[in-house]
Amino acid sequence: MSWAPSVCRTREAALVYMDRSGGLQKFTEDCKRYNESNHSYAVYRFVISINPTDITELDATLGNYILHEPMRAAQIFQSVCDTAIKTLSLIESYQKESQINVVLRLTHLPDLPAYHLNLDEFPMNYKSQRLCMLKGVVIAMSTVTKYTQGARFLCSEKNCPFSEGFRYIRVHIPGATESATIRTDFVCSLCSSLLREDMKYRVLGEKQVVELLDSRALQIFQGHSTNIGYCELKSYAVFVRDELINKMKIGARYRVVGIPVCGPNGPHISVCIEANNIHQYIEESPSAISKPFQSLLSVAMSSPWIFTGILANMFASQVIPIGVYNTLKLCILLSLVQTGKDDEGSGSFLDLLAVTSDALVVDRLMSYSICLVPRGVRHSASNDLFATVMKDIRGSGAASIQAGSALMARGGICFTGDLRLHKKDKLDHLQSVLESRSTSVFIPGKKYGEDVNHQVCIPVQSNFWSYVDSCPKKQGHRESTFIGQVDISVVPSNLLDAFGMFIYCDETSDKHSSLSLVHHNLQRAVSPETCIYPASQLYTTQDYERLIAFAKNIQVNMSKKSETLIHGYYLASRRVRTDTHGSTMPASALRHLMSMSEAHAKLSLRREVLEEDVLIAVLLFELSLTLKHGSSVFYVPPSALFPVKLYDESSLHQRDMYLSETYQQLQRFVFTYGPGTTVSASEE
Ligand SMILES: [Zn+2]
Repeated sequence: MSWAPSVCRTREAALVYMDRSGGLQKFTEDCKRYNESNHSYAVYRFVISINPTDITELDATLGNYILHEPMRAAQIFQSVCDTAIKTLSLIESYQKESQINVVLRLTHLPDLPAYHLNLDEFPMNYKSQRLCMLKGVVIAMSTVTKYTQGARFLCSEKNCPFSEGFRYIRVHIPGATESATIRTDFVCSLCSSLLREDMKYRVLGEKQVVELLDSRALQIFQGHSTNIGYCELKSYAVFVRDELINKMKIGARYRVVGIPVCGPNGPHISVCIEANNIHQYIEESPSAISKPFQSLLSVAMSSPWIFTGILANMFASQVIPIGVYNTLKLCILLSLVQTGKDDEGSGSFLDLLAVTSDALVVDRLMSYSICLVPRGVRHSASNDLFATVMKDIRGSGAASIQAGSALMARGGICFTGDLRLHKKDKLDHLQSVLESRSTSVFIPGKKYGEDVNHQVCIPVQSNFWSYVDSCPKKQGHRESTFIGQVDISVVPSNLLDAFGMFIYCDETSDKHSSLSLVHHNLQRAVSPETCIYPASQLYTTQDYERLIAFAKNIQVNMSKKSETLIHGYYLASRRVRTDTHGSTMPASALRHLMSMSEAHAKLSLRREVLEEDVLIAVLLFELSLTLKHGSSVFYVPPSALFPVKLYDESSLHQRDMYLSETYQQLQRFVFTYGPGTTVSASEE
């Protein structure tokens, strides 16, 4: 009997580990709770937290069991718990070891290739019952349903000793189906009579099925392939139970430790994962920007506008000519740095709507730009924009909430394409989401085997980009347009107000850029791979990607002066933009102005929001107001942000001078029309 001493040793190690890690303390508290309860139990369930590194250091054999034979490890802990309860008389009504249900919850797995689950690998060892790790995004999630956590069975033969007591206790084991835990054909091992379940001892737990898409498949959503059927092949069903219920959020990214199980799932045999533990995915962020931008930043220090001006001017030279649509490109960059981390939104969203007569180029520019953040999603008509409810395909009958494009873009950008292609009710829904940053789905109880209906509210944490193709022929329908106003009647005005940034881009206003666009497009068509501009090599897509990843993590503070300026501008504009119908200044204006100012500070890689950042926000905002309602006393021309073509140092200086003058103009405007802000304005 050579195994006996080793069993003793591993049990001892398990006890020492529990003692050292605080697990023993928690265990005795759990026992106390069971003991004090008036309820009588057939099964006592204990969750023990396990750090595989610590345990392997303590006892290699036990560590090995934990990692490679988790069921065996659980048995060892089960017998340790049994001994502890008996010797310390922790639970009065306790009788047999079979009554203990131990769940070992692993803190992590070693970050080694052998522990990563890879669906591409073939053949995969499904039978190993071993823990592995996978990273993925939640693309669908079922409602919470019940399952049998534990049950007591008794022999149906009255004279058999097992017709009472706790000989036959069945508990759920990872990956088991409901029929494996409870069935009607179990027989007594002593007399072979049928076993009957003692219903009053049945313990119910909660379960949820989460559909996880391999992180590497995320690029499908960036528009490389929009076939959702293909994505389904790449997804795993993860069974989540009890304490882990509702830990995952739809659209978010996680690292899941679990046991792969191959078994029947509804009509198909497929691989699913029984989750052991769930952790948030931590996105890596660069510690610095790339060398070319570092040197650019160092020479642009003298002005608060030069760095971002050049960034916008040079941006996306891979898809459109340098210097074209600079205002739009600046808006895109501002929105990109206002994206959040994977699991949490940035809190201050910045959406963008462009009206254009050149939809092809705007579409191309936006499609290119969503690829600069990890979670950029191009919405396709075959998909839903928010969420849909359908029956869980794995035969549980529960409702499953499927993530639409906006939820898949959590912490990133959702690009909806041309808004005119969306139906009226969809646009209304979009507007309400932009305002509330949440969507809700209705789950009729009747349809999904439940007594009550559910209304599930889901946060929407992405920035939205859209455009509207304003065909020039359609213009001129409206009789009285104010100076600067554009006919945008295709989009409801409430929806326009919901977008933080709303701009107009039209290449026909500038003969030069029109020609360069034609030239650029032809060159791209003839030889798509060639680099048209040296700038594309100087500041590469990867440089911008890194810059955005770095800038979005900067925590910015709003200075008192900046805040005062925003409020001053807001109040002054409200006043001058009031007619008999009330003010045309939207209520969301302050929020949008704050977010744009913050974004400009971030893009400038500064921690403090300066009044110069506020100026950029105000100019962008005033441009959108002018498009919607015509210009006011505070006149801002369409070219306000880029009044000259940027090609050398003197043009940059010229732009700086112009912006400084505009800044003076803004201060005078606030001084004249903004009540209550006169004190701070006169201090200047
Ligand atoms: Zn029997």
